[in-house]
Amino acid sequence: MSRAPRIVLVATSHPGNIGAAARAMKTMGLSELHLVAPAQFPDPQATAMAAGADDILEQACVHADLPAALAGCHWVAGLSARPRALSGPDLDARRAAETLARQGDAAHAALVFGRERTGLTNEELDLCHVRVNIPANPAYGSLNLAAAVQVMAYEWRMASAASSPDPAALDAPDALASAGAVESFHEHLEEVLAEIGFLDRGNPRQLMRRMRRLLHRARPEAEELNILRGILSAVQGGRTRRSGGAADRDV
Ligand code: SAH
Repeated sequence: MSRAPRIVLVATSHPGNIGAAARAMKTMGLSELHLVAPAQFPDPQATAMAAGADDILEQACVHADLPAALAGCHWVAGLSARPRALSGPDLDARRAAETLARQGDAAHAALVFGRERTGLTNEELDLCHVRVNIPANPAYGSLNLAAAVQVMAYEWRMASAASSPDPAALDAPDALASAGAVESFHEHLEEVLAEIGFLDRGNPRQLMRRMRRLLHRARPEAEELNILRGILSAVQGGRTRRSGGAADRDV
């Protein structure tokens, strides 16, 4: 089996759903639960709904925001009940699980689930490599949060039992850039693109979203990302020199 993904629940309002999600995870052999700013946790309703999966609740990590919950992850999938135009490549639950199962042991993946009422924000989906939908009744397609976790956990279990990791898919998974490193790169890129006048700060979204899609598809290694960061720094250094800034005076 491939390494089990971590389950990330964002801003869950009902503690019972956290418990039910923990139960869903344990039935399928998942154990790593991360909670982003839950409304109430720990809570007796969570423990009651976990029904014997309370060990997962006890080990759950609570984070202030989504980037913190994704630390150390190399592949991040955002679960969304709604199709959205430009938020990234879409996969259905089964194809996402197959992609996960091929990743091998060293690559760490996260499945991110949104709020009961409003799901994930566009900014949160921007942090995900892919957006995943569980195909459902188009007229009533929004599953209960724990039910969505159950479907994904089941698909992961079936897909990883069926496939062995593809060594060609990830020759050196340890070398892959982490989600945090990719995020810092995007911040740096946005800064430089604004400095050179390529990015309109008033309307940065579509450009930066496209760049995110490109990078998420490319799955750069840490070293490659360092080169890109170096290029950005060189652009900034060059500009400082041309404008007679500090870099010039230092030489
Ligand atoms: N009303 C919200 C749905 C929230 S359901 C919305 O329209 O986005 C809570 C979470 O369960 C969602 O954020 C998503 O992560 C997951 N979920 C529910 N139904 C889903 C579906 N059909 N496909 C993928 N994820 C789903």
